[in-house]
Amino acid sequence: MRNSQDYGYVIAVLLGDKIQGGFTWVLRCSYSPSLKRNRIKSVFSTVGILMKRIFDMKKRTAFIGAILSLMPLGQPFLIKTSIALVTAKIVIFNSDWAIAESAEFYFKLGNQKLDSEDYKGAISDYTKAIKINPKDGDAYRERGYSKSVLEDDKGAISDYTKAIKINPKDGDAYRERGYSKSVLEDDKGAISDYTKAIGINPKDGDAYRERGYSKVNLNDYEGALSDYTKAIKINPEDGEGYMGRFRAKLFSGDFKGAVSDRNKAFAVFSKDKSQLSVKDIVSSKMLAKRTDMWKVFSQSAGFNGKTYEKPITYYIHDENSKNISKHLPKAMRNSYEISDDEEQFTVDIFSYIDSIIDLDFVRVNSKSKAMISIYKTDKDGKKDEKAENGSGVMQEPPRGVKYKIEVAWAESPLIDPKLKKYPTLSIDNAFTIAHEIGHALGLNHKDPGCLPECSKSFDPEDIRFNNRDSVMSYNNFLYPKVDTFFTELDIKALRTIWGIEKGN
Ligand SMILES: [Zn+2]
Repeated sequence: MRNSQDYGYVIAVLLGDKIQGGFTWVLRCSYSPSLKRNRIKSVFSTVGILMKRIFDMKKRTAFIGAILSLMPLGQPFLIKTSIALVTAKIVIFNSDWAIAESAEFYFKLGNQKLDSEDYKGAISDYTKAIKINPKDGDAYRERGYSKSVLEDDKGAISDYTKAIKINPKDGDAYRERGYSKSVLEDDKGAISDYTKAIGINPKDGDAYRERGYSKVNLNDYEGALSDYTKAIKINPEDGEGYMGRFRAKLFSGDFKGAVSDRNKAFAVFSKDKSQLSVKDIVSSKMLAKRTDMWKVFSQSAGFNGKTYEKPITYYIHDENSKNISKHLPKAMRNSYEISDDEEQFTVDIFSYIDSIIDLDFVRVNSKSKAMISIYKTDKDGKKDEKAENGSGVMQEPPRGVKYKIEVAWAESPLIDPKLKKYPTLSIDNAFTIAHEIGHALGLNHKDPGCLPECSKSFDPEDIRFNNRDSVMSYNNFLYPKVDTFFTELDIKALRTIWGIEKGN
């Protein structure tokens, strides 16, 4: 159920099942390098297209024949011929122009539709261009690309192959075919295509980067590192390149280098974005105070219309136990003893939030007394060897079951760097805990598990945003100095839901 990968922006399919009224948010499925491809903007010049048409001899011969048959009779043959030839030339030229224009017209129309993400429309236009000119390699390539975006990678490969047959020097078509092969898990075939693309254009940073990605899939981390480094050298603003190199370094055990690259990637990605607002991280239902969480919390905390008279209880589980809850995802039902730092960090997060919002918290020593229970568990989706994050879940109960919240979090492979204030706790683990507590207090992000309620929330995988914007983003910078994770926006959102601390 997790980590199903789409290759545009990788969307991890989280534990998406709505569980009879309760919602499941699963945090932080592994970030897969999102392979946002640079669009190929090469448009054949009109002259180029004309040249191509002129070699289409069959049509031309027939055309000249047709022109000659229309020649008026009764004029001196020589003049006639001369006029005929001139006229034919002009007519042929004009006619080729017209043909070329209409092929190019459809090609350009296709490009426009591609740019506006109307992929089906683009395919239809490229098909028209190909019909007019079956030797239009560019139209084949771009149609292939459109098919690939629509996840028809087999169809895409067939189009790229035609483009390459028409123009064996089309490096873009090789690179894109490689990409589609990689989607179909043919990484060896992909590498061979990327290598050809690089041979044709040694400045094709994208081909280097994508080859790096395929090499990581084949566990060739050294080769991948070298490719990513080349991609970054060609384009120092290639965030995907940094993110790819992060993975290669992580899997080869170079945590320090990995973390540095990941931070660089987020820095690049975040240059292009607008500001998030409260509505991006709080559902309209919650803003209208119509969620189960709001109702139950308010009742349980004795909300008198102005403030809360009792604290919300939370429990931190700190022992090895099996099958802690049937509501949690199966893989996350065994729980473990936690470290002092993990415990203290969790306590401190609650104290911190207590100090900024009107709702108060108190720690209790059993699950039965608690509104919110927190467990350290196994990772969900353990099978994914190439996971890059920890995972966590905030689980509301099914309808009809007493409303209590369960939070489970699991270790991240990013064991370094650690927090300064909690020297054994990795930033990534701390972030998972903070993120899930954010959920437990009503913050959200887009997730299949909470639709339609969270349909207007922001996408936590949107790489333009990171944990400097909100604790609800999956993309956390890994700096040791960070120790609370709740941003100004998060605080504003929590205050919108639960009120501002009134000093009680
Ligand atoms: Zn989440």
